[in-house]
Amino acid sequence: MNKTILKFIFLCTFCLFSCENKNTSQKTNLKEPTAGVVISFDDTSINEWFNADKILRKYSWKATFCVSKINTLNRSEIKELLQLQKKGHEIADHGFHHFNAPKFVSKNGVDAYIKQEINPMLALMHFYNFKITSFAYPFGFRNANIDKAPLKKFKIIRGTTYGSEDPFFQNCYFNNSKLVLATGIDTDHPNFSIPYLIQLLDYAKRRHKILVLFCHKPVLKVTANY
Ligand SMILES: [Zn+2]
Repeated sequence: MNKTILKFIFLCTFCLFSCENKNTSQKTNLKEPTAGVVISFDDTSINEWFNADKILRKYSWKATFCVSKINTLNRSEIKELLQLQKKGHEIADHGFHHFNAPKFVSKNGVDAYIKQEINPMLALMHFYNFKITSFAYPFGFRNANIDKAPLKKFKIIRGTTYGSEDPFFQNCYFNNSKLVLATGIDTDHPNFSIPYLIQLLDYAKRRHKILVLFCHKPVLKVTANY
């Protein structure tokens, strides 16, 4: 009888400890989010994007290419974009006409915006077999009222942000929202500077944040604003 009780207590104790161990290991397995950088390119510099990939692929980089006016691209540009998609890069929607959204909507309404700017672009992108889940507002111009409409069609939408405040106050970090704001790294972006970019990157690394950047045309030698 005593032996059975002892056996029972031993089993309960073992179970308790193993459960305790399990909980502790679960806790220690909870990793902090990994710091990261989202690099997005806007408009139609397809050849330059393709060439940038040739240089950067050795780092296993992945970018988001936000294409506008897809109806103006030639066959070889579409082919390059499809190759970028195949390599794991993201192709995103950046508008069929590249409208200034708030300006267009105040004049014509949200329905017309979706009908003219989003729907024909998505139709053509799907025709070419692009898998589209993101939208980047042309010029980054948007407001909360307009956001509701593209959010019905995309998983995530991107606006832009400015300023050179301390990274703690910057809103160019992913915050689990379906709206992300990117800061510019074009040479003509009002607050772009290498030291500030390094400050933003350093903050992302230290605080496990994901920094969201946007730009246009990657070149080996800077000869113009973009
Ligand atoms: Zn643009």
